[in-house]
Amino acid sequence: MSDCLFCAIVAGDIPANIVLQTDTVLAFHDVQPQAPTHILVIPKQHFADLAAVAAADPTLAADLMLAAAEVAHTVQLDQAGYRLVVNTGVDGGQSVYHCHVHVLGGRGLQWPPG
Ligand code: AMP
Repeated sequence: MSDCLFCAIVAGDIPANIVLQTDTVLAFHDVQPQAPTHILVIPKQHFADLAAVAAADPTLAADLMLAAAEVAHTVQLDQAGYRLVVNTGVDGGQSVYHCHVHVLGGRGLQWPPG
């Protein structure tokens, strides 16, 4: 999709620190980390949010969750634990309207979040 930041990362037009790439998903470090480790997992195909992915392609939604778990293992978050966050819409704090799963960890995370 034109004018989509994450589509530009998928296309290689904007650089990213990539952690994992499969046929369907891409994972890369967030530029403004909110935890010692903060990685985004996105579908390569453009969808505005996770609900749109799940409705159009449930297998792709599962791919995102599997990739998030694989990323957590790769960066060694899986033993201590980590948090997955999917901000959706304005009240959800979504700022980039290309579906993404935040993988956060590396310290004890407050719950409920502030
Ligand atoms: P959200 O607020 O849930 O839509 O999250 C969007 C995330 O994208 C934020 O955590 C940003 O820091 C992150 N972000 C924005 N631009 C980039 C970029 N060029 N590379 C990596 N992460 C980015």
